[in-house]
Amino acid sequence: MIRSKAAICVGANQPLAIDEVLVEGPREGEALVEIVASGLCHTDLTALEGTNASSVYPLIPGHEGAGRVIEVGQGVRDLRPGDHVIPLYGPECMHCRMCRSGRTNLCWTIKPTRDKGVMPDGTSRFRRGGRAVHHFMGTSTLSRYTVVPEIALAKIRADAPLEKVCLFGCGVTTGVGAALKEIREGDTVAVFGLGGVGINVIQGARLAGASKVIGIDITQRKTALAAALGMTDFIDALPLKANVVEAIRDLTGGGVDVAFECTGILSVMRQSFDCCFPAWGTAVLLGVEPSGTELSFPPVSVRYGRSIKGSYFGGVKGRSGLGRFIDLYMEGKIDLDAQITHRLAIEEVNHGFDLMRGGESVRSVVQFD
Ligand code: NAD
Ligand code: ZN
Repeated sequence: MIRSKAAICVGANQPLAIDEVLVEGPREGEALVEIVASGLCHTDLTALEGTNASSVYPLIPGHEGAGRVIEVGQGVRDLRPGDHVIPLYGPECMHCRMCRSGRTNLCWTIKPTRDKGVMPDGTSRFRRGGRAVHHFMGTSTLSRYTVVPEIALAKIRADAPLEKVCLFGCGVTTGVGAALKEIREGDTVAVFGLGGVGINVIQGARLAGASKVIGIDITQRKTALAAALGMTDFIDALPLKANVVEAIRDLTGGGVDVAFECTGILSVMRQSFDCCFPAWGTAVLLGVEPSGTELSFPPVSVRYGRSIKGSYFGGVKGRSGLGRFIDLYMEGKIDLDAQITHRLAIEEVNHGFDLMRGGESVRSVVQFD
């Protein structure tokens, strides 16, 4: 057992407790990782607010981290102490039907236990005051030390700065990956929500060669950054409300080729569908809806040619595909610095989520050293 400083969510709508937890060493197929830095993502906020179906309290949030392997359990083949890694909420076992299909980056090998907040053997590695504390998304990167199954750890190049590339654990890969997958050169694009995910769709759209990139948000705080990363037009959704769709149609001669929804709000998802060009436009849903909610749309729109799809972790396979994205960063093609608006100590993590709630941050990064 080692002691680890961690942020603990004891229940919905309560401030995170900053406390020491005990972390048990890695069991078979697992590794103990020392987290260097962890970005705060909106999906963590859903666990804090009690709208995430896969959160079992008490839990340690965090799923956008990077760190070093400290110790490996029995049977771990591809990792050694000292390796630099990014924990993956979407693992890659490389053997299951999904992994072998060539059609998806999903791997549900350990999903049933991950969604219950435990390791694949059904138990937790965290304890506080003699009581088990649950894992979250299988990663729990808001603990200085965490245990993660080997199949959910992407080994990365050692020269990539961990305090920055932690963002590849979620937001950057989700946004840039989805953009590179869905956008063709010359496409017109709409991006709803200029947070950690949306801003990265924007820089991915620029990389993909989009001709027009329209950003939509209810705050103007992030427009300068979005413009620096490739946004060509901005629509302020606050005064416009229902007319956002019309404004996008006006800017594009009838609708965009691809729209990305990065807010998780159902009415915005519908706007992202409605603003697509009727004959072929595609709405790509990235935002996570409140659990159990449903979205409706008129089938005739799909019959005519619009489509609606989603994207998980940008369609990127974690262990075999993340390296290419880190390389893009190291080659200067992806920007991380400008989107890290706040750096915080773990003691300041509640402030970090307040900044997110207030729409003031793009990415806050918690640094452990
Ligand atoms: P964020 O809070 O940083 O950003 C959300 C942005 O949406 C904010 O800038 C906010 O002002 C804006 N917004 C709010 N209402 C709006 C409206 N009506 N119209 C336009 N913009 C509006 O969140 P984030 O970390 O960027 O995450 C965005 C969503 O993506 C969340 O739902 C999150 O859970 C989800 N997510 C999905 C994946 C995936 O793999 N699909 C990965 C990461 C995050
Ligand atoms: Zn996330």
